[in-house]
Amino acid sequence: MKVHLKQIPSEGLHLEGEEDCPIQELEAEGIRCIAPLQYDIDLGVSGGGLWANGFISQRVELRCVSCLEKFVHEVRVPAFTVHMELHGPEMVDLTPFMREEILLNLPAHPHCDRDGGGICKAKQVATREQGTRRKSDWSALDKLKLK
Ligand SMILES: [Zn+2]
Repeated sequence: MKVHLKQIPSEGLHLEGEEDCPIQELEAEGIRCIAPLQYDIDLGVSGGGLWANGFISQRVELRCVSCLEKFVHEVRVPAFTVHMELHGPEMVDLTPFMREEILLNLPAHPHCDRDGGGICKAKQVATREQGTRRKSDWSALDKLKLK
């Protein structure tokens, strides 16, 4: 996302829209963008520096580390901030900053039930096993009582 400094008025600039997914090369690792990056940010220039803050989000498809099912996750960066010194070039590119924030907010061990939406099959199996074990514990107790 490139911004020409001359486009930024002294009172600042509000920008919102979409950009190409900045993490496309992660597809090889099972992280696939399913929508463009969305941004909603304010920009301004003051004291020889550029500042930006706002909200960015990127919808991706991840693979659950427990059940290996693919699921959709939205990487949200509600407090995206940038501050950079300006020397020389009149065009600044915010894409590397957005890319870094998205990478930082990607779950390292994605679970399909992390957002409370889905129910992880791997966990369902685990709970069912626990249930049967608890039942057999009780029946053992019942036998003890009978003696
Ligand atoms: Zn899962």
